[in-house]
Amino acid sequence: MNANKKIYLDYAASTPIDPKVLKKIRKAEKIFGNPSSIHSFGLEARNIIDDARQTAADFLGVKSYEIIFTSGATEANNLAIKGILNTNFKPHVITTQIEHESVLKTIEILEKNGEIEVTYLKPNQNGIIKAEDVKNAIKPNTVLVSVIFTSNILGVTQDIKKIGEVIKNWRKGKKSGYPYFHTDAAQAFQWLDGKVGELGVDLVTFSGHKIFAPKGVGGLFIKESVILRPILNGGGQEYGYRAGTENIIGIAALGEAIRLLKPGYKKQVLALRDFLIKEFKKIKGAKLNGEKENLAPHILNVRLPVSGEDLLITLDRARVAVSYGSACGSRAAKPSSALLAIGLSEAEAKSSLRISIGRTTTKEEIKRFVKILKDILKKFKK
Ligand code: PMP
Repeated sequence: MNANKKIYLDYAASTPIDPKVLKKIRKAEKIFGNPSSIHSFGLEARNIIDDARQTAADFLGVKSYEIIFTSGATEANNLAIKGILNTNFKPHVITTQIEHESVLKTIEILEKNGEIEVTYLKPNQNGIIKAEDVKNAIKPNTVLVSVIFTSNILGVTQDIKKIGEVIKNWRKGKKSGYPYFHTDAAQAFQWLDGKVGELGVDLVTFSGHKIFAPKGVGGLFIKESVILRPILNGGGQEYGYRAGTENIIGIAALGEAIRLLKPGYKKQVLALRDFLIKEFKKIKGAKLNGEKENLAPHILNVRLPVSGEDLLITLDRARVAVSYGSACGSRAAKPSSALLAIGLSEAEAKSSLRISIGRTTTKEEIKRFVKILKDILKKFKK
């Protein structure tokens, strides 16, 4: 045990690259052919993509041609949303107030430009979006429902299957292919295993750097019945959905990272998470944002009786990395809109911290973190 070693508890922001993924990267770096070339150099590169695509498809239980690779979850979300803009009427989109910025901002801009009309569903105080609310919001011109699978801020996981059923029933009743159902599963992906076919989703976003692959690569599941307009035009790569010579190294890494996802990790991470919850219960004034039953195994958002920003900085000085709000964009310490959406006051949101763990987190790290946190809280009190 090294008592001085830094403790990283911000896996929802990004994960380290798995050593086996790094090994794959080193191998893929040597393959420089263009995957669209017909010669053997091209074929070698093409094989890497095919292999990763098959791995992703097998993991989700879908067809390999239903997977496309992108530069990350942000691009996948942009494609899933902007791609629906090919109707000859003004489309209606349903989303939630707790989406990641890459969904929320994209939708807000389209709304501001008058290209779509939008319903923003409010979660209940536990961060849950009710399937009934989705049902009531669907209109004849609704083309897309986009609901985040696991909130990157709250860790709350939605009942995607139930929402999927509501959408399926509406489509059946109207004999329509719309609305499509998109879910941003950047945070949930590592816990999915072959279940996507049963969830009633049409579009699923994922990202490499949340699952021990590098940043700058991700993907989108696009059900074969879905018609999307590409947002990047050019050479027609990725079945015409995403032009541009493929990021072979990133895709190889992502494929390997997906191959390494094992169901056993869930139990391991859950045990650590539950230990952490137990320890938080002992801290006076600490409160969990969201209900344990609905949380993903790796994210906790807790309210403490101090300023989250001060606490984050003090923890960082004590060599512990957690998160305040989300890590995206400007690094500005704004209270998260997801916390306000579940009904927290600005002050409560500002005293909330996100702690996120991963399969490389150890119990020793958690114990040390709890001790450091308790010591800091004691000092803050004085
Ligand atoms: N969606 C969610 C839920 C996320 O947590 C993130 C990353 N914070 C993104 C989208 C954006 O992912 P990327 O960095 O791959 O663009």
